[in-house]
Amino acid sequence: MIVAIDGPAGSGKTTIAKLVAKRLGFFYLDTGAIYRAFTLKLIRLGFPIDDLKKICDILDSTSIDIRDGRLFLDGEDVTELIRDPEVDKRVSLVAKIAKVRERLLPFQRRLVSGKNAVVEGRDMGTVVFPKAEVKVFLTASLEERARRRHKELIQRGKNLSFDEVLEDLQKRDEIDSNREVAPLKIASDAIIIDTTGKTIDEVVEEVVSIVLQRYKGDSILST
Ligand code: C5P
Repeated sequence: MIVAIDGPAGSGKTTIAKLVAKRLGFFYLDTGAIYRAFTLKLIRLGFPIDDLKKICDILDSTSIDIRDGRLFLDGEDVTELIRDPEVDKRVSLVAKIAKVRERLLPFQRRLVSGKNAVVEGRDMGTVVFPKAEVKVFLTASLEERARRRHKELIQRGKNLSFDEVLEDLQKRDEIDSNREVAPLKIASDAIIIDTTGKTIDEVVEEVVSIVLQRYKGDSILST
């Protein structure tokens, strides 16, 4: 069973998806982390963003592994590094490249094959898992999303202004929503949850109850 959670940056996807997965005893997959890891690699190599052949060659020789909730890029644990504002700034430029998406698509499906999973990203319900049993689209006002992301960055010791964070989010949303391949959009059968002004617990409860309602009578909880 797949629970697909999509939404714009800062909508609370990662926090909510992780907690929902924990509650249900499901595997959790953050697909943004995969795009972030590859972006980090490209930054380290001078960000050859206009050289498509080079980008594909680099991707073909890159290994990305997810083990115990940690993300490994060519064997190096980059779980924290992929959250750097430098990666934030550039990841959408990498994620809009059709060839990159094409190559990462089967990889994402393989990671959850045969598992009950909560998967989160931008195109989970529309492209990667169009047959997902449950599809949720999380959203929140731009200001609230920027406030959350700003708080998170400050807590991690990154000194960005609120306006800078808001501008970055806006730019990322614009690129993610307008790209040609697998843009951020609401699947026709998704349930939309606006998380503005809601607590994390409230949203988790809402998503878990959607899953349980859909599967009334079926025992999907691991406990
Ligand atoms: O979810 P997160 O904000 O970490 O994702 C980082 C970026 O990765 C997004 O802004 C988007 O450009 C890209 N992404 C994507 N498709 C996904 C997940 C993330 O294009 N399924």
